Amino acid sequence: MSSALSKFNVIQVKYGERVTRKSIVFHGFANSGEVDEDQPMDYSFWIARNDKAIILIDTGYDVAGKDWLGETSRTPPPEGLALLGIEPAQVSMVITTHFHYDHIGYVHLFPQAVIVAARAEYEYWTAKFEENGLVGEFTAAADLEVIMRAGEEQRLRLIDGETEVHPGVSVYPVGGHCPGQLLTLVQSKSGPLILASDAIHFAEQLEKGWPFFAHTDLDEMCAALAFAKELSADTGAPVIPGHDPRVAAEYPALNGPAKAIATSLG
Ligand SMILES: [Zn+2]
Repeated sequence: MSSALSKFNVIQVKYGERVTRKSIVFHGFANSGEVDEDQPMDYSFWIARNDKAIILIDTGYDVAGKDWLGETSRTPPPEGLALLGIEPAQVSMVITTHFHYDHIGYVHLFPQAVIVAARAEYEYWTAKFEENGLVGEFTAAADLEVIMRAGEEQRLRLIDGETEVHPGVSVYPVGGHCPGQLLTLVQSKSGPLILASDAIHFAEQLEKGWPFFAHTDLDEMCAALAFAKELSADTGAPVIPGHDPRVAAEYPALNGPAKAIATSLG
């Protein structure tokens, strides 16, 4: 009997938001000749689920617990999961797209899940942790320690190159924003999707080639933009930027108790 791939429902779950300025978030915006304006930013994590598995792509963070950049809390990620009828214990895998605070803040909720990360990301942040305890960095030591512990427990999967981490879910280390920034390609029920996370914060970056202001390697970040476009052209998968309010505006809300925060991507 052949085992057909069980495709995923992919859901974006919004947990917070803030408003910044285009001139702040886009590298080189001043030279673009465009008029500066407010840039709203959504904070989300993603779920890929089918009849066999529930996979999280990032975990969000506790917005009320610490002020990083003046984000406003909408629905804390644990509540968002509860509204979707998901118990943390049902999550078998957490893909951490990179280790910034807004992407791994609730990683401790999943002490039984396999944690996926790029090796470059892990090595970069553990080296900084040893150097300075992550003081002044956009990564919290407590969250990194959870990931280090997962390593001791043999449930940390470090990725060096393009890898299918679960049937129908592949990750691609692209770097740029962070040394081990990952893109995730998911085979959703309506076709493949590229979850760009912070490789591409906003769709406008794809349209205009604008890098994001925060990066560890600008050339790599530009290469990541180009790579996402190429992967999209090759697979027919739309690119879902990581922080763009357009996503929730353009894709349908997921019917049910999580309707206000959950967007059905495929
Ligand atoms: Zn982010």
